[in-house]
Amino acid sequence: MEKLEIDNISKLLKIRNPNSHKGDFGHALLIAGSQQKMGAAIISAKACLRSGAGLLTVAIPKEERNALFSTIPEAMLHFREEPIEFSKYNCLAIGPGLAQDEVANKLLQSVLSAVKYPIILDADAINMLASNKDLILQLPINSILTPHPKEFDRLFGNHSSTEERIKTAIQKAKEYNCIIVLKGHETLITDGKQSFKNTTGNSGLAKGGSGDALTGIILAFLAQGYEPINASKLAVFLHGLSADLTLENQSEESMLITDVIGNLGKAFK
Ligand code: AMP
Ligand code: MG
Repeated sequence: MEKLEIDNISKLLKIRNPNSHKGDFGHALLIAGSQQKMGAAIISAKACLRSGAGLLTVAIPKEERNALFSTIPEAMLHFREEPIEFSKYNCLAIGPGLAQDEVANKLLQSVLSAVKYPIILDADAINMLASNKDLILQLPINSILTPHPKEFDRLFGNHSSTEERIKTAIQKAKEYNCIIVLKGHETLITDGKQSFKNTTGNSGLAKGGSGDALTGIILAFLAQGYEPINASKLAVFLHGLSADLTLENQSEESMLITDVIGNLGKAFK
C-alpha cells in the first residue's frame, strides 16, 4: 500500500492562478450542526475556509444563525427549514454535528435524491446510512465516506482488528463505487482499486472535533475541482501535518482542533 508522504502529496497541489477570482474555487455547501452540536459545524466551516474554497454556504437551523455569524463571518448561511437549491453548489458535505432526527433524515434523503456530483458523508450522515442501509445504493459515484472505526462498524458490521477493517473498506469501496476514508492513526484512503496510508498526525487529534475539521478540508478541495481521491489524500495529509506542526507550541494533550486549523497555512506552505 502506498504511503502518503510530502514528495508524492505536494505534487497534487495545484498552483492558484494569480489572475483568479472566487468563482474559480467553487461554491461548497456544508450541511452540519444541530442545537447541541453547532461546534461541529463551525469547526468544519472554518477548516473549509482555511483550505481554499471560493465560497462556502453552511446549512443550519435558523435559530443557530448567531453562532455562525459571530464565529465565521466569511461563511454564508442557508436556513435548512427552507428547500435547498443544490444546483447552486459544486460540492457538498453532510453530517458533522447533524444529529439523526427526522429533519436530518429528510435532509439526507433530499440530498441523495437530488445531487449527482460526489458528496462527502461524515458522522451522523454515516450513522443514518447505517440505520437505513439501502441509502448507500443512492450515493453519487465517487462520493466520500469518512468513518472512524465505530462508525465504520455500524455501517459494515463489527470487526476485531484494523487489518480486517481495511480489507472490508477496500471491498466496500469497490462494491459501492465510493471512496472510503477509514480514520484513525495512519488513516486509510481507498477507492477499491488503489489504497493509501497516511503518515502524518498524532494523538493530539484523538479529540472531539478533529474529524469535523477533516470533512471541511476535503470539501474545500472538492470545491476547487480536485478529483475526490486526490481531495481525500491531500486533506488527510494536511490535517495530520497541521497537527504535527501544532506540536511546536502545544502538546498532544493541550492541542485544540482550533489550533490545528490555525496551522493549516503552515502546512500548505
Ligand atoms: P473523528 O473521530 O471523526 O473526530 O476523527 C478523528 C480524526 O483525528 C481523524 O482524522 C483521525 O485520523 C485523527 N486521529 C485520531 N486519533 C489519531 C491518532 N492517534 N493519530 C493520528 N490521527 C488521529
Ligand atoms: Mg467525527
